[in-house]
Amino acid sequence: MNENIAYARPAAGTTVEANGRTYAVPKRPTVVIVVDGFDPAYLEHGIANGTLPTMASFRQNGFMGIADCSMPSTTNTNNTSIVTGVPPVVHGINGNYYLDADTGEEIMITDAKRLRCGTILGALSQAGVNTAVVTAKDKLLKVLAYKMSGIGFSSEYANKANLGENGIENVETLVGRGTPDQYSADLSLFVFDAGVKILSSYRPDFMYLSTSDYVQHKHAPGEPEADAYHHAVDTAVGKLIALGATVAITADHGMNDKSAPDGTPNVVYLEDELNSRFGAGSVRVICPIADPFVRHHGALGSFVRVHLLKAGDVTAMMAFTRTLHGIELVLDKEQVCKQFELPIDREGDFAVFSDRNTVVGARREDHNLSQLAGHRLRSHGGLGEQKVPFLLSRPLNAEYRKRAKDGPLHNYDIFDFALNGVE
Ligand SMILES: [Zn+2]
Repeated sequence: MNENIAYARPAAGTTVEANGRTYAVPKRPTVVIVVDGFDPAYLEHGIANGTLPTMASFRQNGFMGIADCSMPSTTNTNNTSIVTGVPPVVHGINGNYYLDADTGEEIMITDAKRLRCGTILGALSQAGVNTAVVTAKDKLLKVLAYKMSGIGFSSEYANKANLGENGIENVETLVGRGTPDQYSADLSLFVFDAGVKILSSYRPDFMYLSTSDYVQHKHAPGEPEADAYHHAVDTAVGKLIALGATVAITADHGMNDKSAPDGTPNVVYLEDELNSRFGAGSVRVICPIADPFVRHHGALGSFVRVHLLKAGDVTAMMAFTRTLHGIELVLDKEQVCKQFELPIDREGDFAVFSDRNTVVGARREDHNLSQLAGHRLRSHGGLGEQKVPFLLSRPLNAEYRKRAKDGPLHNYDIFDFALNGVE
């Protein structure tokens, strides 16, 4: 027990409010884990071949369900939905990358500037709940640890964590190894090892662990590397439970193979298509999946926003887009916001979803696929990656069993279920 962070905890039965929802303070240590890119296919496969024994046990001893993630099915959007408990129309983060309509500038999200509400983690922390956040990717930390005191750091910058900014120091010593490579499975496994050490040494009441989808972008369910990685995740979950925690697990999005049988990626370069049909400079296509970790997907996913650069016939452009092979759904600004609870002031003129086997991009020169280095393209962003596991290590109470059964279940309900829904 670290005396520096021991302080009065809120009384049992205390609740906190966040974005119109009410959460009980933790009855016992509670850990919410977002396994980035954890498609239900990995869970099914791992249960079937015995590599996920802890998660498999939740079917009898806890809860095992499937939830919808927020659209687009990207990392920032969904981690933000999960920590705020609300969809993007409320929290404002509708992708990793956007076009600023006022300046015409294209911006990568690396901070909390676009966040329009507080987080559940912040509300718990302000109520005196001892909270901790460990994330693989540093780009997420400012949103996840927004207005939260306590421990908060990324494995990407584990060596830079300090008491002043991160509420913890000497992380490499605590975990017993050096800061992992940004492009490695260990970037995520380090998060789990740190989480186990933090739970045993600092005893936070609430901890949020968020990983990277490096492995899932490279390896399909059934490949040994995918089995080894998810088995390591399962082992860490077992350790957290053994330390007395209630563990809840979900994902930010699923993952699908986006290549032809010969390994060639199935790509629609939509900006090239639209500008060759409607005139050069007609549109700019923005891929909200673009992030600082593009090596494994070349910034190609299954959802894009089309912005008209000059007056044009949106209806004709949408109709043309629907004729392109691999395009599943095309919706104008109002429709996409209504159907997927997105903020209308941050939407393009129309939105395009490609199917589960296809990615949609901007111009050919915007996407460097040479770094796939022989791997098939696996990615996310669209409707084919909307389903995610929704798991709890303890049984649900009657009210939440009914809610789970009646649905709909969203990944951003996971804090509600972990704090209000378990026996
Ligand atoms: Zn992700």
